[in-house]
Amino acid sequence: MPADLTSALWAPFSPSDSVRIREHPDTPAAYVSWRELLPIMNRRYATAVGNQLRWSYAAASRPIAASPETFRNWLGVDDDDIIDGILLGLANTTVLDFLDGTLPFLINMVEIQNPSEKISWSREFLKRARPATPLWPETLLIELTQSCNFACIMCSCRTDGYVPEKTMPLPAFGELIRQFAPHVRSLRLNGYGESTLIPGLNQYLDCLGEFGFAGQKEIITNLSGPIGIYERMIRERFAMIVSWDATTAPLQQAIRKGSDFSQQRATLLKLGSLVQSAPEQLVLLCTVQELNLQEIPKMVDFAAEHGSGLILFNMVKEPDGSPWMDLRFNEITSLFVAAQKRAGEYGIEIRIPDHLGNRPLTIPGTRRTSSNGCDRPWKELLIRYDLEAQPCNMFHPWSYGLLQLGDWQIDMASRIRSVWTGASAATYRSHVNKSPRHPYCENCYWMR
Ligand code: SF4
Ligand code: SF4
Repeated sequence: MPADLTSALWAPFSPSDSVRIREHPDTPAAYVSWRELLPIMNRRYATAVGNQLRWSYAAASRPIAASPETFRNWLGVDDDDIIDGILLGLANTTVLDFLDGTLPFLINMVEIQNPSEKISWSREFLKRARPATPLWPETLLIELTQSCNFACIMCSCRTDGYVPEKTMPLPAFGELIRQFAPHVRSLRLNGYGESTLIPGLNQYLDCLGEFGFAGQKEIITNLSGPIGIYERMIRERFAMIVSWDATTAPLQQAIRKGSDFSQQRATLLKLGSLVQSAPEQLVLLCTVQELNLQEIPKMVDFAAEHGSGLILFNMVKEPDGSPWMDLRFNEITSLFVAAQKRAGEYGIEIRIPDHLGNRPLTIPGTRRTSSNGCDRPWKELLIRYDLEAQPCNMFHPWSYGLLQLGDWQIDMASRIRSVWTGASAATYRSHVNKSPRHPYCENCYWMR
């Protein structure tokens, strides 16, 4: 994805600054200046680099190896061995490997606040021996757009509708499908946004057939899209995972701001009528929070009424750690037990996580989550709208790297290989199940 050259953020730099590294990608990273890299980064990366360079043009013009204080501040570690290790590595690292390893690693360190954890992650990064990685993930997750027409209270996506600039271009999507189709078992269209807002979504769906994608297909949607696109996806055997949090209009519309309960309910009823022979194809994804606790058992009646055969209950993750989950633990447990009883009566499957906050939920029938061990970084790959690669379906912010480097034309097969097996991805896999875990992984609700 080309950097947004119309933005003031990029104004001093242009693609011509990157000519040397495009022509000589084996140049040692040590000799390359930050300004040569900036035009081929996405916005997230360039913002992070700009912040570290204090938006100084002079600092951006410095060779990377002449920036020890930048690395020290960026990593937030006052450990000479680590800084020396990073600087020494620059001499043996090509600029392309720097872009696929060291740079994403640095971007990721901003998320780690604890000083001892920063040291632990940095040491892991500096290890040279890496365990083998599967050649391909099993599941590919693609964020088609990072724009949405809703403003749900637990979500940070606030774009007030469709934003073309925050949408994966059709050719990029097609190329990803062409590369991954022979290798992955499933594809999920999911992101910080609503895929059905994309006016040409039918063309994206056409790509799946064109490139022979034969695996499982899923979409997560707020169900505000045109009925025709949903009918097509049902026909094409997509699992339709519908975000739905309440059984009444006032509560649903209070949580899912921007939703129209009666309109989306009509769509749900229509889809339910289309999946009568396989009701598990229509899934309700309910994010449980304090506001909709009492809805837990009622959601089962609602699913039965609308023809859905599967409910996924996900617990909200809130910045304060949701102390109410602990205070109301017994009440929440009883509500899930009631939901299980009703689900048994209707023949509906419900999936409940094995913990509430940091307390295990020990009732029979819960699903194992990744809270105590995760295999997703070996099995999944999330690709954002701007072709940044990340580890999992839970939108973990760890970056593996950028599959597209500005307007630099490199074949996608080699980009996928470099990023999937790069040093940032390898560091993440080596550390993901070590204690202390990455803060984002704490109390994860990803269910097996
Ligand atoms: S519908 Fe999904 S992406 Fe849109 S605001 Fe709600 S949770 Fe976020
Ligand atoms: S957030 Fe962490 S624990 Fe959860 S699925 Fe992603 S990588 Fe695994």
